Amino acid sequence: MTRITVAKGDGIGPEIMDATLSILQAAGAQLEIDEIQVGEQVYLAGNMSGISAESWDIIRRNKVFLKAPITTPQGGGYKSLNVTIRKMLGLYANVRPCMSLHPFVKTKHPNMDVVIVRENEEDLYAGIEHQQTDEVVQCLKLISRPGCEKIVQYAFAYARQYGRKKVTCFTKDNIMKQTDGLFHRVFDEVAPAFPDLETEHWIIDIGAAKLADTPEAFDVVVMPNLYGDVLSDVAAQIAGSVGLAGSANIGEECAMFEAIHGSAPRRAGQNLANPSGLLQGAIMMLNHIGQAEVAERVQNAWLKTIEDGVHTYDIYKEGVSQQKVGTKEFAQAIIDRLGQQPGILKPVSYANSQAIELPVYERKPAVAKELLGVDVFVHWAGTDPEELAQQVGALATPELPLSMITNRGIKVWPNGFKETFCTDHWRCRFLPQTGKPISKQDIIQILSKAAEHNIDTIKTENLYAFAGKQAFSMGQGQ
Ligand code: NAD
Repeated sequence: MTRITVAKGDGIGPEIMDATLSILQAAGAQLEIDEIQVGEQVYLAGNMSGISAESWDIIRRNKVFLKAPITTPQGGGYKSLNVTIRKMLGLYANVRPCMSLHPFVKTKHPNMDVVIVRENEEDLYAGIEHQQTDEVVQCLKLISRPGCEKIVQYAFAYARQYGRKKVTCFTKDNIMKQTDGLFHRVFDEVAPAFPDLETEHWIIDIGAAKLADTPEAFDVVVMPNLYGDVLSDVAAQIAGSVGLAGSANIGEECAMFEAIHGSAPRRAGQNLANPSGLLQGAIMMLNHIGQAEVAERVQNAWLKTIEDGVHTYDIYKEGVSQQKVGTKEFAQAIIDRLGQQPGILKPVSYANSQAIELPVYERKPAVAKELLGVDVFVHWAGTDPEELAQQVGALATPELPLSMITNRGIKVWPNGFKETFCTDHWRCRFLPQTGKPISKQDIIQILSKAAEHNIDTIKTENLYAFAGKQAFSMGQGQ
């Protein structure tokens, strides 16, 4: 018996949750359920996060959470509950299987069977954003070694457990050599421990194009947060429908399972909605809590139901479908087929499924870190970089000379092009050519001189070498 937390959510949530739970129960899932309220009602009662303290306690105690979609009220500064839950509970892995059900659900990709494993906590989703000048805002992209190691190891362990053949990594490390570069490097470090799996890396742009065009070329695909957010929806849609896909959010302690679609308020209360997405989430949950046999029985009955042409309105197609049914009837059709296997679609076997255990992250010993220089960002409304170089150059010291100015990353001084468009956000790099380390005092001197000269410094970034290796990007065009 496993005790889980269930939230029925908003819109079509209660209907699809009831349908899902009735199928799990009929299949013999050993579940004890604690129900909590999250979402619209909680938001509108004045709780900006959409969840109460008592509900948090229950989720944290049970550790396994099956959640129906919720409605986030428009405007008014309500926080996305999904993002909050993922980050508060450290649910670092988002797993979305996207499989086509050809010829029973329309798709251009009859042989597609891809699992997107998306990093779920960091990247641009750290939500650290600032306006810095009249013209420029920024969002910090944070990629960490533990974040990369956990998600990449999870992707490999998942591939091995589910008998997958290949793990592909998508990044843009030809441009983002530090952040995406780390993700790719960790992928290359982890891969040799899984010699039974084929591995490959694609630059995200051409990789995404290939995924949209020839998804059967991919198996498990692991990627940083933003790319995974976009491409997991693309993958689900081209497999047949976002309405059919479930997702698992996995952490070291807790896990949350859900459909990938929203609360579809316009369909609510009419016994119309397709419960398949949430059911797919629930099947991943059963595998996670060691009830693989039940998971397998439910999945095969679901495949058989789809194959028998018993379809809800969203996937109903004249000539292919046999029967248009509502939410409840669809659930009953699955229950009626428990114990049966599909004949045309491939039956699943989850014999060895269990929660995937990863090695605990071990922090590596710190390496020597040297401060080599500083980037000082300046808000300046002028247009001629020569003029700024003169002003900012006056701040330089013999230890810390001005070496370069860039605007939106492109070098504009020395020897810039007059064609380069410039905003009011300038990066002034102070970096001695000697490669000799500087001190924080050198930076403070520059900043205090800038204050005296009324130069509007908006932030600094220290330029480091780690283990003797320069650990910052060059200016574009440098
Ligand atoms: P949606 O996914 O709710 O609906 C998109 C379209 O798909 C609609 O036409 C809808 O009728 C249809 N659809 C979705 N699920 C279906 C199902 N199970 N069966 C049949 N048809 C289905 O997306 P939306 O309209 O952009 O968002 C509605 C609300 O859901 C918003 O408040 C949004 O914030 C929320 N949302 C919640 C989650 C979540 O809780 N995980 C995810 C996405 C959106």
